[in-house]
Amino acid sequence: MTKHNSQNEDPGGIPENAAGGLLHIDLDALASNWRTLRDNAGGAETAAVVKANAYGIGIEKAVPALAQAGCRTFFVAHLSEAIRARAVAPDATIYVLNGLFAGTGPTCAEHNLRPVLGSFEEIEEWAGFCRTESLKRPAAIHVDTGMNRLGLTVPQGLTLKDRAELKDFEPALLMSHFVSAEESDNPLNRQQIEAFQAVRSSLPGLPASLPNSSGIFLGDKPPYDLVRPGYALYGGNPTPDRDNPLKPVIGLEARIVQLRWVEADHTVGYNGRWLALEKRRIATLSVGYADGYPRSASARGKSGDNLLAGMTLVAGHPCPFAGNVSMDLITIDVTAVPENQIRRGDTVTLIGGDLTIDEVGRRSGTIGYEILTNLGSRYARVYRGGQG
Ligand SMILES: *Cc1c(COP(=O)(O)O)cnc(C)c1O
Repeated sequence: MTKHNSQNEDPGGIPENAAGGLLHIDLDALASNWRTLRDNAGGAETAAVVKANAYGIGIEKAVPALAQAGCRTFFVAHLSEAIRARAVAPDATIYVLNGLFAGTGPTCAEHNLRPVLGSFEEIEEWAGFCRTESLKRPAAIHVDTGMNRLGLTVPQGLTLKDRAELKDFEPALLMSHFVSAEESDNPLNRQQIEAFQAVRSSLPGLPASLPNSSGIFLGDKPPYDLVRPGYALYGGNPTPDRDNPLKPVIGLEARIVQLRWVEADHTVGYNGRWLALEKRRIATLSVGYADGYPRSASARGKSGDNLLAGMTLVAGHPCPFAGNVSMDLITIDVTAVPENQIRRGDTVTLIGGDLTIDEVGRRSGTIGYEILTNLGSRYARVYRGGQG
């Protein structure tokens, strides 16, 4: 395993020598990515989306590192996540994207949280709660411009200006969310921008927020007051048709528990889905789908096939998965690695270098977002930077 300063090991976490996988998390790269996004945000305030445990990297580590870089506004999905963020960011503005759950006004108030109100029912409940307290508490209003998921419809949004409830609380942000901002030429982007502009201009003076990570990099768009990047903060590429302007934040290594030769015409793993056409050397890694590495990265075919499946780097050599991903183990074909360059106990790279989170997602038939948010709980998590 890579040498590191033991101070950086996750307190109460899994010790490195007891873990099957080592997850490196670079909080300096996270802060640097936030600054890069801010510099591309056209003067808008740059918030940070830290839902799903900060996309898997750890909300208690990510939020202070981002706050130290200058981030003042955070978005989470769940109230439970907002309470965790509040515990480490006493002065930050924190929004709850999934809205106001019935009866949770007092919990939001207790922790000074702002719900993102996405229906007239939620607006009425928040306004009613503020009336009982005689305090105009802030909240965001979400208008749905194409996702058909959360938020007021655009026609409802256009009637907001006449709603009496808007005087009972403090509307602090008007927001919407892109459907396909990573597809820069998708005509839906322009339609959403225009629908959002119509609602925005009916509510002058209300700060407005549309872009997610990819939205920040869309060329032709009006200025916004606030942008809401998530994925790009964690090193995902917001511009899939161009080079990634962000730094990688995570790296994942897995330990080799056994090395063996498999004879010709023998199979590897559950259900015998990978066939050695000739004698092959197999390394078994101590990571599996129970660690959040997708089973859909399984390599089903024959030795030497160029499959769209999981890949590793072993002492710099690309080595493909061989067979089905098991719950706790992955088998890889290391025949290409010179015998003196690989031993039991060595670690191999699962995420790092050319194996970016986007590439691992692609090889698993999913997106890098899911690779991040599934990062397992059995890894030794080693944080770098972000303290001081
Ligand atoms: C998750 C989310 C974001 C962040 O999106 P990324 O693509 O990760 O940058 C922004 N806004 C809303 C409403 C979200 O749900």
